[in-house]
This record gives sequence, structure tokens and C-alpha cells, in this order.
Amino acid sequence: MNGAGGPSGAAVWCEAGWYQGGIREGIRLSVDPAGTVTAAAPGTEAEPGDLVLSGVVFPAAANAHSHAFHRVLRGRTHTSGDFWSWREQMYSAAGALTPALYEQLATAVFAEMVVSGYTSVAEFHYVHHAPDGSAYPEHGMELALARAAVSAGIRLTLLDTCYLSGGLGTRSVGAPLEPSQRRFGDADADAWLSRFASLQAAVAARFPPEQVSVGAALHSVRAVPEAALARIAKRLPAGIPLHIHLSEQPQENADCLAATGLTPTGLLHRHGLLSSRLSVVHATHLTDADMALLGAADATAVFCPSTEADLADGLGPATELRNAGVALALGSDQHAVVDPWLEMRALEHGERLRTGKRGTFTPADLHFAASDAGAAAQGRRAPGLEPGKACDLMAVRPHSVRTAGSRPGQLAFSATAADVTAVVVGGRLLARNGHHTVLGDPAVLLREAIAAVDSAPAAVHETRLEGTRHP
Ligand SMILES: [Zn+2]
Repeated sequence: MNGAGGPSGAAVWCEAGWYQGGIREGIRLSVDPAGTVTAAAPGTEAEPGDLVLSGVVFPAAANAHSHAFHRVLRGRTHTSGDFWSWREQMYSAAGALTPALYEQLATAVFAEMVVSGYTSVAEFHYVHHAPDGSAYPEHGMELALARAAVSAGIRLTLLDTCYLSGGLGTRSVGAPLEPSQRRFGDADADAWLSRFASLQAAVAARFPPEQVSVGAALHSVRAVPEAALARIAKRLPAGIPLHIHLSEQPQENADCLAATGLTPTGLLHRHGLLSSRLSVVHATHLTDADMALLGAADATAVFCPSTEADLADGLGPATELRNAGVALALGSDQHAVVDPWLEMRALEHGERLRTGKRGTFTPADLHFAASDAGAAAQGRRAPGLEPGKACDLMAVRPHSVRTAGSRPGQLAFSATAADVTAVVVGGRLLARNGHHTVLGDPAVLLREAIAAVDSAPAAVHETRLEGTRHP
């Protein structure tokens, strides 16, 4: 085993690997200095100096939906209630963040992602400002997240999120932001567009795009009034990835119908926002017409199965979306677990529970959702072992207590993140057996970061006491 990881531009040898939709043995990958696979030779032996990956090597996972700070809620919210009461606890966590605290916390969360097999993340970011709504200098929160990603070595697509209103309200204006939402907001659509352009320039000046890039998000139709949607549809430059929470809860659909006469999907369609650059997150409660529109637009749906179960959202229509032509990607969202293997099989398990049928999503389908579709949703190249792909890989132990006896091609139904023995980003080894090669044990980082958030000065927690109501 090559302990150092080898410089990018060398070669990676996989004892076995997921190659062209099946398992092959002895695959030697040539990797260029940019971290791209330039050649793949199955049926070969390792050569001196190769980074050797034992076990079964798969494309790394691309996390298509994350709110890094939600990690502090894990294991703390399991009382009675619903999505809306959980949201109050989430707002309390948001209220405690400062740029320095968020950099520390996000570094730990991104390190957890890396050791679990994720090498890219779409961070749906809306905690922009100080608790009173005033701006931090120089994109303080956003650059804190970017530095955290660089420290952890994960590729970051920073989805800067437009969040203007506290509910649908009237058609053109929306309800005002509640006190606990004030730090999420901008004055109006033009103010967000202007801050977005400034952020793009600030990130481009500091980070290479394969490490950190900027995408856009609309929080939801609850948080972006129709007039603002129309304005953004006209002015947001083409080609930028655009994400939105869509129809996560029936109440959002009911409120949207009452305010606009349309479903949330119908409202996006009215303003020309449905396109191949659009990723709709959750897409849990859709009509047949919604699905036809999303399919015709070649949009992506991002399912977050562990979160949707945790928050009692319901099971989205995965089969129907796929049949309509919608690509499915996967996200860990609130990080109730950070484990791409559990998200993969939860997609299929949800369909089994919902439809009474097995095998709607094959292992190949699940790897495509976890890797290719998640990368495409970020505007990134797919990870994998084939030439032309980013050399972002995860090796899995095929003989653990969980995986012993599994066919290598069916590990998607037995492995967990605990079986990930190595993670490679751009040809470089970044994690080994749960430890980050630079940052060490993510559990230590998480414990320290969560303790720091818990003990943040009381003044920062002011918004905790405000509470929130149903929008
Ligand atoms: Zn979300």
C-alpha cells in the first residue's frame, strides 16, 4: 500500500473496480496533473509508485444537497412534532453562527463527508448575514465555507441562495422575513443578484473552479415571491447551476395554489425557470402535470432519502419522475447521516415500500444517481474510473461484517460509509479508514466544532428566543 498517496499526475491501481457499469479486476488508471483519468487498463498489475487501492473501487459520491450547519442537530431533535417544529430548532442553530464558527463547523462536516466517500458537495447556503441582517465584510460567511472546503479537500459548489420572504403572502410581495430569518435575506431580487455577481468574482479571484465554484439557488417558492422569481429568471446568467427546494411539504403546495393559482412547479414554468440547469430538491409532492413539465425541461430531481424520512416529508415519486425523463441525484441535506451508501439504497427501498416492487433502481442506477447525476447537478465532470472522468474514487472493503459474501456489483445494498477504506480526489489520497489524511479524525473536529457552537456568546443566540410560526 502506498501510504503517501502519490502526487497527482501519477497512476492509481485498483484491486477491483466499478468500470463501464460492471466489476473488473486489476484496473490501472493514468491520471493527469489536473486529476483527470487519461487511460484505464483493466486486467493489469500494479507498478512501483502506483497509489494502490485494495478492495472494490467505485466512483466517489457527489453530494447534491447540503446545509452544513444542520449537522449540529443530529441526534437532538427526536421529540414529537413535524417539519415546522424541527425548523424552529434549525433556526436556533443558524442563529449561533459567525464566519469563524461556520468555518470550523463546515471544515468538520466536509471532512466527515470526505471520509465517507463524498468528493464534491452542493452547499445550499442561506446564512449570509449577521443576525440583525447587516452584511459581513467581504462575503464573510461564503468565503468561510470556501476555505472550509479547501481545508477538507472536497470540491464545493457554493449555491448562494436567494431568500426574501417568510411565506407566500400576496402575489408580488410575500410575507416579511421573521426575526430568525433576517440574516438569510437580501433587500430584493436585484440586491441578491448584485451580491451574487460580487461573490462570483470574489471566489474566482481566490479559488480554482475545480475546487470552489459558485452556483445559484432560490430557497423555495415560500421564500422568493413571484415578482422576484420573474426578475431573477430574466437576469440570472445562463449556464449557472440553479437549485430550489420544491414541494417538500403539502402545505407549500396549498399555499402556492392559494397565492398564485399554480403548483410550485407550475409557477417556475410560468417564468421560464424549468431547464436542464435546474435541480429541484425533494420533489416529494408532485402532480402528474408537474412531473411532465420537469421531464420535458430535462431537469434533475435531488432526493435526500435519509432527511426526508427524518423530517416526515413523505416518499417522492421516484419511478414516475424517472419515467418522465427527470434525472435523479442524491443529497445528505441535514446530515441525519452522512453516508452515500445509505442514501443510495434508501432510494430503492423507498420505491419498494411505496410500490410493492423490487428492482426499480439497479445498483448501476444507484451509482449513477450518487455520482454522475450529483456531479452534473453541480456543473461538474462525473467522477469515476473511465478516461475523461475526474479521478475521484472510494474504495470499499468487500469482506466486512456488513459486506462479507456480497457480490461486488451489489455492494450498494450492503456496504456503508464504515466500509470505505480510501477516498481519492483528483488522483490524490485524501482519506484512509475513516481518517482524513490532513485533518485526522473528523469525529474530533465535529465534537470540538459543535461544542463551540453550543457555547457561542448569548448575544449571538438572540434569535433563538424569537421563535417562528408557520409561514
Ligand atoms: Zn435543503
